[in-house]
Amino acid sequence: MKFKIISKGDKRSNKIKSTMKQYLMDFELQYDREEPDLVISVGGDGTFLEAFHRYQERLDKTAFIGVHTGHLGFYADYTPDELEKLIIEIAKTPFQVVEYPLLEVIIRGNTGEKEDRLLALNEAMIKTSEGSVVFDVKIKGEHFETFRGDGICISTPSGSTAYNKALGGAIIHPSIEAIQLTEMASINNRVFRTIGSPLILPKHHTCLLEPMKDKSFLLAVDHFNRTYNNVKSIQCRVAKERVRFARFRQFPFWNRVRDSFVAEGNQ
Ligand code: NAP
Ligand code: MN
Repeated sequence: MKFKIISKGDKRSNKIKSTMKQYLMDFELQYDREEPDLVISVGGDGTFLEAFHRYQERLDKTAFIGVHTGHLGFYADYTPDELEKLIIEIAKTPFQVVEYPLLEVIIRGNTGEKEDRLLALNEAMIKTSEGSVVFDVKIKGEHFETFRGDGICISTPSGSTAYNKALGGAIIHPSIEAIQLTEMASINNRVFRTIGSPLILPKHHTCLLEPMKDKSFLLAVDHFNRTYNNVKSIQCRVAKERVRFARFRQFPFWNRVRDSFVAEGNQ
């Protein structure tokens, strides 16, 4: 089996990376940067997001696992204490795989250039660096509302504990194939009126955002931002691809939610 380790870059994560790399190679696993079967991220959820995007072209072939060197993460849910056990389990492959849904975003321009297709593990946010954004929201091809405000966040179930949660969105179990739309400070008056509540769309229900002409806006996908001009539409739906996690023990989603947000005294 071929593996690759991505470290957050701090001293502790780098040390764990080199220990794991050495042990796994001693077990005759092959270190492969290009075509790994397993990608191990060492750091935080942010490190895991980077690892995911680095290998997003081969999601059907690569499984991921995260070790956290700071606080407990949602993707980085293994502790450095578990390292020894984890190395042995990885060396014993094959491993079990758990899959989570992803968000697909397609950006189409007004000027006929090629469309841009992105995948998000956490969310995509449409916002602006100045003033407010205005766009029509269509669901399944039908006009739903005209939004004006700071922006809209469209998140995956596993991303529902991230930015979405801070916006008052619901936490969705990742076995549910859905995307969630949450508003960022919508302006409600006699001209602009929005639903106000988070919306949860099932698989195959497409949401189309059509920005006002000639306005540029920011698209934040997970940990990176891009500016777009002259956009005709932004289409969001549950992606056909899924992210695959290598699983070596149980750590149910609701336990991770509890340990991260509710239980006291957790690291
Ligand atoms: P960051 O500013 O370090 O991330 C903010 C926090 O969100 C960090 O504590 C990060 O964990 C955590 N996080 C990331 N994914 C999560 C998930 N699925 N569930 C629960 N918490 C999660 O930036 P980053 O590390 O590059 O991560 C980017 C993500 O951070 C974005 O996708 C966005 O969802 C989230 N974010 C949230 C807020 C907010 O809640 N107000 C603000 C900015 C960004 P680690 O410390 O382990 O990396
Ligand atoms: Mn981070």
